[in-house]
Amino acid sequence: MGIETFLLAYSINIIIAQRLVRKLCPLCRRPLSKESWEAAMQIGITREELEQGKIFEPVGCPKCRNGYKGRTSVAEALYFYPEIRAEIMRSVSEIDEERIREIAESKGMLSMRESGLERMREGITDLSEVLYVTAED
Ligand SMILES: [Zn+2]
Repeated sequence: MGIETFLLAYSINIIIAQRLVRKLCPLCRRPLSKESWEAAMQIGITREELEQGKIFEPVGCPKCRNGYKGRTSVAEALYFYPEIRAEIMRSVSEIDEERIREIAESKGMLSMRESGLERMREGITDLSEVLYVTAED
């Protein structure tokens, strides 16, 4: 490493990761059915939100394709805070990805999963899309 580590730590200011999710068709979407509530709560949706019918699932109508129409993005941004630069400089052979994520989240980084949850709460996309794009998180 050496010079490469230094360049990596100091030449980057921000890294943005973005993934596309399908948008729910607003004409036919319906509140998430009860059998999927457990899975939704496992990723951070509250029972209250589900009871209020604010979280939707796709249905399908002549105006859309299987309940979806168009796409939107979910994203996460990693700012290279001084602590993150220091962590990169500290790494000898391998960068501790977990540690970087911990620092970023303590600084308020919105993760891909959280970004997806926001889109679900807005009624824009659904559980299966968010699970699909954040599967390895
Ligand atoms: Zn539709």
